Amino acid sequence: MVRLSTYFLPTLKENPTDATMASHRLMVRAGLIRTLGAGIYSWLPMGWRVMKNVMQIIREEMDAIGAQEFQLPALNPIEIWEQTGRVEAFGDTLFHLKNRPLVLAPTHEEVFTTIAKDNIKSYRDLPQIWYQIQTKFRNEPRPRSGVIRGRQFFMKDSYTFDRSFEDLDKSYLAHREAYKKIYRRSGLKFFIVGASSGAMGGTGSQEFMVESPDGEDTCALCDSCGYAANLEVASSTLKPLGRLDGSKPIEEIHTPNIKTIDQVAEFLRVSTERLAKSLVYRVDGAPVLILMSGNDQLNEAKLTTALGKTAVPMEPEELARYTGANAGSIGPVGLKNFRIIADKRLEGANELTSGANKDDYHIVHVDLNRDAKIEGYYDLRTIESGEPCPNCSTLLRIVNAIEIGHIFKLGTRYSGSMHANYLDEAGVEKPIVMGSYGIGVERIIACHIEQNHDDNGIIWDKCIAPFDIHLVSVNMDNKEVRDTAERLFGEFSEAGIEVLYDDRQGVSPGFKFKDADLLGMPLQVIVGDRNLKNGNVELKFRRNGERKLVAVAEVLGEIRNLLKN
Ligand code: ATP
Ligand code: MG
Repeated sequence: MVRLSTYFLPTLKENPTDATMASHRLMVRAGLIRTLGAGIYSWLPMGWRVMKNVMQIIREEMDAIGAQEFQLPALNPIEIWEQTGRVEAFGDTLFHLKNRPLVLAPTHEEVFTTIAKDNIKSYRDLPQIWYQIQTKFRNEPRPRSGVIRGRQFFMKDSYTFDRSFEDLDKSYLAHREAYKKIYRRSGLKFFIVGASSGAMGGTGSQEFMVESPDGEDTCALCDSCGYAANLEVASSTLKPLGRLDGSKPIEEIHTPNIKTIDQVAEFLRVSTERLAKSLVYRVDGAPVLILMSGNDQLNEAKLTTALGKTAVPMEPEELARYTGANAGSIGPVGLKNFRIIADKRLEGANELTSGANKDDYHIVHVDLNRDAKIEGYYDLRTIESGEPCPNCSTLLRIVNAIEIGHIFKLGTRYSGSMHANYLDEAGVEKPIVMGSYGIGVERIIACHIEQNHDDNGIIWDKCIAPFDIHLVSVNMDNKEVRDTAERLFGEFSEAGIEVLYDDRQGVSPGFKFKDADLLGMPLQVIVGDRNLKNGNVELKFRRNGERKLVAVAEVLGEIRNLLKN
């Protein structure tokens, strides 16, 4: 199959200095990728073999649920993105071209919906499942972690088109099952969590996650009932603050130079929980005040869900213009021109302390039912480790994770704004009900390496390994060794076994062994003069380092057996 003497495989002894994750280091060192710019990677021949293996698994499982493969352009007229409001929603993440009104697509809802709109006419044309494996472009602000966060990357994205929400549920479940098979066949340990649908609405979504200390996502897990949710949506059953006996009238108190929640609580001798902390945001240009209990953290994804729009924190100067006070002194009592929403924990609470909209003053004995106009109470706080599970009250665990896939019930979000309708059996025009589903192809490879490596290098699982066998000729200058290795190489290749053959001349055995471990093929076949004297070659299993002598004549049979299992 492939001879190392002529194969382009630039391995490195040293770790690249910019790489923090093992997968990133090893992908560069093992010659799978090279960095061209921040978040931009070239795939070299060995890496591309792995990529093709993963794509093959994805194609097989997508085809198995009846999905049809497309290939859409990455270059998109900006118009279709304006129709759905996503030029704004993506903001700086969207790459714009300078010399034409074009963008580089970060995902393909718009293009697929355009095709559906122009070509799906009646209920007879539904359902459809369409997919592609294609390049996406996103101007990620902080590309790090290697190919896990690229500015150009491969996504398998699919889209379902159905007549009803019930049919969408079926399409969604089919994808969920296909995704499980894809990740299992890629050798990954993963879990599924409930996820946020973000600013774009939709009626439900789940993410496929790989646990990793380097993951940029955080998830809450219940080891008892299996509850699992991205922190962007995770909830817990913390008690609401409720009401205390004896509501007193509000009172303004001078609190000079007292800034933090803890300082205020100490100064006024109240519990931090009963401090109603005010945060100010802007949504669609209008100011919104958000009340949180004490040190609870506002979760911006939950805020987006509650408001149905993305909100941005208000700058201090702007806030001062609205209220005449600085951020530490804002509060809900007597505040004009603001929408006010609050976290559920504060629902109907009294005996709270808040800012007085006047620098260096606080108000005590605030009763939200009596003294403020709260538009609504929503779950807005980020839960913390050790809080009770919302289903069974077991204490939740919080882990970091890498998102490897996302499945999404879109409903009529895109068909609505792009007018992709169909005629039902009664001749009534209805919006097509859609789903969209993404897999990060690079992330499968990087996560596979995260889960399968040691100090010496990668340990591929056969399922996506670039080669099954790494055949090492220890010394090409020894005729017997060379002839045997050449013969085995021919036999393996003929038998259809994917073999990488280290036939390099003038490279020391130690160096060859190091490379074999770094590159990480599941099985090494080592041909050396010492064992050959007794008619044997050595097999080395990369995963556990076990070694085994096998007679030259029996190697092919032995390997065939091993590959079968
Ligand atoms: P993230 O929160 O990590 O940015 P996302 O929510 O933006 O991901 P989606 O828009 O749902 O991701 O894209 C579908 C899949 O594409 C993700 O589940 C992930 O596996 C992959 N993906 C997203 N962004 C990148 C990227 N910059 N580089 C590589 N893969 C990515
Ligand atoms: Mg993203």
